[in-house]
Amino acid sequence: RGAIAFKDVHFAYDPERPILKGISFDVPAGKTVAIVGPSGAGKSTISRLLYRFYDIQGGAITIDGQDLREVTQASLRRVIGMVPQDTVLFNDTVAYNIRYGRPSATEAEVHAAAEVAQIKHFIRTLPDGFDTKVGERGLKLSGGEKQRVAIARTILKSPPILILDEATSALDTTTEHDIQSALDVVSKNRTTLVIAHRLSTVISADEIIVLRDGQIAERGTHVALLEKE
Ligand code: ADP
Ligand code: ADP
Repeated sequence: RGAIAFKDVHFAYDPERPILKGISFDVPAGKTVAIVGPSGAGKSTISRLLYRFYDIQGGAITIDGQDLREVTQASLRRVIGMVPQDTVLFNDTVAYNIRYGRPSATEAEVHAAAEVAQIKHFIRTLPDGFDTKVGERGLKLSGGEKQRVAIARTILKSPPILILDEATSALDTTTEHDIQSALDVVSKNRTTLVIAHRLSTVISADEIIVLRDGQIAERGTHVALLEKE
């Protein structure tokens, strides 16, 4: 479940300036595909199109063979879990923010999700740095930590498709490693599309697509692409 197909997709925000110039690729059900490329190449646009924030102007996008134009945004939200590059959290505890992924989740499930995302130690913290339990200032979450809260939320929601957009997040190496290991767990047996800036963060992807100027410049496994460099 959750196979994604882009077939000759054309898209422009402004008709004078095409962003995607006929993009075709598949993410087979349960596999992980990474999109990398320079900033402005159109990577994040691909994730927005999958969520139907915008309609394409040519070609087709399908999920399990069904044209996206026939799918409502509400049902897309059930099928796709999104970890955006700039995660905006509710001004409530990290635990509350995780539970939002599935309000019926038990306390133990919330803790288990936090453990996988490696954020268990600040589950009581408010994202802006106020500790509700202690009643004084606690941690102020970095962008990468907020992204891990979004990953934990997605673990609880457990959608067949996961989109992780790490395109422009300036993450330190530790956080990058934590996100990578959390992602490896979440993406297992789930159709996953990773939007990444660097090749180094997507080593385990089944296929890497290099997007340049709205077109697919190269594609292959991590090893194959490194050999070409
Ligand atoms: P990437 O994720 O590869 O950095 P984006 O998909 O975010 O690239 O953007 C591709 C191009 O589309 C950029 O030139 C960007 O300025 C432009 N763009 C992005 N969003 C919008 C928008 N909402 N309206 C107009 N242009 C946009
Ligand atoms: P909700 O059910 O709360 O609306 P969503 O899955 O729609 O949750 O969105 C979760 C977060 O991801 C929100 O911060 C939203 O702004 C952001 N988001 C959703 N879709 C996109 C997208 N296509 N591009 C960028 N950010 C997105």
